[in-house]
Order: sequence, then C-alpha cells, then structure tokens
Amino acid sequence: MIVKMSQLDAETLQTVTAALEAMGGEVRCLRLPFGCFLAALGLADPPVGTIQAMAGVEWAKAAGSKPILASRELNPQGSRVPLGNLEIGGEALALVAGPCSVEDREQIFSTARFVAAYGATALRGGAYKPRTSPYAFQGLGQPGVELLREAGDAAGLPVISEVMDPGDVEAMAPFVDCFQIGARNMSNGPLLKAVGKAGKPVLLKRGPSATLAEFVLAAEYILLEGNAQVILCERGIRTFETATRNTLDLNAIPVLKSMTHLPVVVDPSHGTGRRDAVAPMARAAVAAGADGIVVEVHPDPSRALSDGDQSLHLPEFRRLAEELRPVAEAVGRRLDLPETLPFAPNQVPLIRRALGWGGSR
Ligand code: PEP
Ligand code: MN
Repeated sequence: MIVKMSQLDAETLQTVTAALEAMGGEVRCLRLPFGCFLAALGLADPPVGTIQAMAGVEWAKAAGSKPILASRELNPQGSRVPLGNLEIGGEALALVAGPCSVEDREQIFSTARFVAAYGATALRGGAYKPRTSPYAFQGLGQPGVELLREAGDAAGLPVISEVMDPGDVEAMAPFVDCFQIGARNMSNGPLLKAVGKAGKPVLLKRGPSATLAEFVLAAEYILLEGNAQVILCERGIRTFETATRNTLDLNAIPVLKSMTHLPVVVDPSHGTGRRDAVAPMARAAVAAGADGIVVEVHPDPSRALSDGDQSLHLPEFRRLAEELRPVAEAVGRRLDLPETLPFAPNQVPLIRRALGWGGSR
C-alpha cells in the first residue's frame, strides 16, 4: 500500500507507520519532491479504507501490478531531474553525448572537449560494458569511471556512466553525476534498488523487449527507495526488422508522457545501430516531445572499441546540434548552444590537433 500524507509532523507519521506495521507491512517513509509517502510493502490484502480514514492521510492506494509513485497523476506537471546546469524535463533539451566506451585518456578528453564546445549538456561514457560476446572489450572498469570524471571536469560537463553490479555503486558514486542502468539490466531488481539508495539521478534504459508498462514499473523500484530522479531512455526494441540494430519506438515518447511524470530521453544510436540514421531519428524524437537526446560520438569511429558503426564523427555531432535547435523551437523547447561555435566542420583536422587527438591507436 502507498499512503500519501497530508500532515508531516513526526507524531502523525509515527501513528500511521505504527498502524501499517501492525498490519504486517514493512514501512518506509519517502520524501519525494511531489509529496511525502509511507510505503507499506508485503501486505497481501491491505485494509486501505482503515488507513484512508486516519488523521493526516490524504489518500491510500493498494499497490498491485501498476506503478503508483511513477504515475503521471502523482505529478501532472511533470518532474524535472537536475543534471549539471540543466533540469532535464524543463524547457531546455538535454544533449547527452560521448563514446560508447571510455577507451583511453586522449579519446575521452578530446571527445569531452569537443562535445562541450558544441552544446552537449552531459558527457556519457561506459566503463563497465554489457557486451553480447564475452570476448569483446568489456570496458576499463573503475579506472575508466575515474577518467570519465576527469574529462567531464576538464570540459565542464556532468558525467553519466553505466553500473552493472550493485557492488560497484559505492565505488562509482563519488565519480559520477548520474548512473546509467543499461537495457539488459532494466529489470534487475537488486541493481535498481542499489541505485535508488545512492540518491543520484538515474538514466534508466528500456529493455529491448520490455513493454512500456514494465519500463515504468522498473522506474517505480527506484522511486520506492526515495529517489525520484529518474530519466527514462527509449533506446529501441527488438522486432523482426534486421536492417537496423533495433527499432526505435518513438511511440514511447507520448505514451510514456501520459503514463508517468518522469522525463523521457531518446537514444537514436542504439535505437538504429547505424550512423546515417542517428541524426534523422534524433530530430524525429525532439519533434515528438523528447526531453533530450543521448548519442554516441567518437573521434575516430572506425577505430572505436565498441559501437563504432553507430557513433557520430565529431563534425556530425556539431551538425546534429545545429539541426536540432530549430526542431526544438518548433515544438516549444530550447536547445542552448554556445553562442560562438569555435570550429567549422571542414576544420576537423585542426580540431583534432587542437584537442590533442593524434589518433595514437
Ligand atoms: C550503451 O549505452 O552503450 C549501451 C550498452 O546501451 P543499451 O544498454 O541501451 O544497449
Ligand atoms: Mn554503446
């Protein structure tokens, strides 16, 4: 059962908590930006009416197979998740960019400086990589997380990185501004609980075969730990189509917006798997109301250790940022790009040298 409290004094909270515990529930008090809630878990057939009638209770709902805390009705104006200088879910769009994997210092620093110069609002790079083949590059692990942090600091960007094991959350937490839960782990309960407890923003990617209802329920796990800073990321689903790596489900944007108050961003890199489709689908996602875009960018995609085929070249990222701006404005949003962009696309060799990208591999 979830109980919304209208009176927040310690005595009232204690009285209602005691009543829920007497029914056999495990009770936790959740102070979320849109209200204070008591969650009583483990009650098979909770007497909702009894709790509803208690002083200081606004409402009580029996929890079942539907999300409550993540549902749109709890915060109809929509939630905003702060990340760096931006509030994701606000008028300004998030532009999250970076390589699939952090590979080495030069690669991550040059990418970070470049995407920051062209309007990225956060730097994303994987250090723990969920790879299909156990023989593929698995990421640099914790040293990669720390390199990402250094590169983010040098470029003035907050950083996002994927966590795959609840046991890594504590070591990663001081170095990341936002945890990513990858598609393969969307329904990993222990991992969702661990990032919920960490109290930092979470970029939650949709599982490749998860329904939208399952996706929002996965977010509910994080909210149930008292952490409402969840950003949902549509990244493509598995269909019969083989011309693209996944099928980017843009239906998810308006439908999720009706189901949940959480911000929704779109990853057209994994959603398509092909560089030539990334920018068109990013534009489509912004037009459909996404709160941001997550794209993979690499200084030399032909030599990337993972996902090179879907990674944008640096000048393509610049072009994308410029193309997204009018689309954002057409749908009443903003994309704040730096006023003077330092380089033109045909100056890329110069950029590479200026940023210290010598292409050493
Ligand atoms: C990634 O973000 O690099 C990644 C592995 O994505 P997904 O979990 O969506 O497959
Ligand atoms: Mn990737």
